[in-house]
Amino acid sequence: MSGGQGYENYSLMIGRFQPFHEGHLEVVRKCARESDNLTIGIGSAQYSHYPDNPFTAGERYLMIRNTLDDQGIDNYCIVPIEDLNRYSVWVAHVASMSPPFHYVYSNNRFTRRLFEEAGYEMRESHIYNREVYSGTEVRRRMIADENWQELLPKPVVEVIEEIDGVGRLKDISGGN
Ligand code: ATP
Ligand code: MG
Repeated sequence: MSGGQGYENYSLMIGRFQPFHEGHLEVVRKCARESDNLTIGIGSAQYSHYPDNPFTAGERYLMIRNTLDDQGIDNYCIVPIEDLNRYSVWVAHVASMSPPFHYVYSNNRFTRRLFEEAGYEMRESHIYNREVYSGTEVRRRMIADENWQELLPKPVVEVIEEIDGVGRLKDISGGN
């Protein structure tokens, strides 16, 4: 189901959100404002406890939900999406897990290509302070004991502290 009456202004964005940072939040704010409903797809949902994918889909769900509660944003839904490693059917897989959507927000060229080939309309979203608002930079700072907290919405910091996310990341990132 890719649409229908009443769903014309439904949209989708996908990220791994490892973790959900201020750049993601800026995109969500804009997309939620422009859409009747925004589906937030949690990509690579089956992975956790890897250096590049430390947090479970459930933990990432909590980070996003608590942040959007705090922001007073409620026209969204969150859908975990496992990798298929079969790109020819990936868009159909995403669509099968999501409420209908017509627009897709992504700055990732590969993601854009896959959705465009499947006939979806893409919308550009702004890039916010990419040098530091990046999952890779947040994880680097966590391991280096630098200030990672300033890159994240406060509710995300709280979730990470509750689960000892920094300790986990250090334990799974090599070293003895
Ligand atoms: P990682 O470094 O772990 O890959 P990431 O910051 O690239 O993390 P992802 O979880 O890979 O974030 O999510 C990718 C989606 O989020 C893409 O559509 C990307 O364009 C968007 N995004 C990530 N950071 C920003 C940012 N600073 N401003 C705008 N969009 C962003
Ligand atoms: Mg990325």
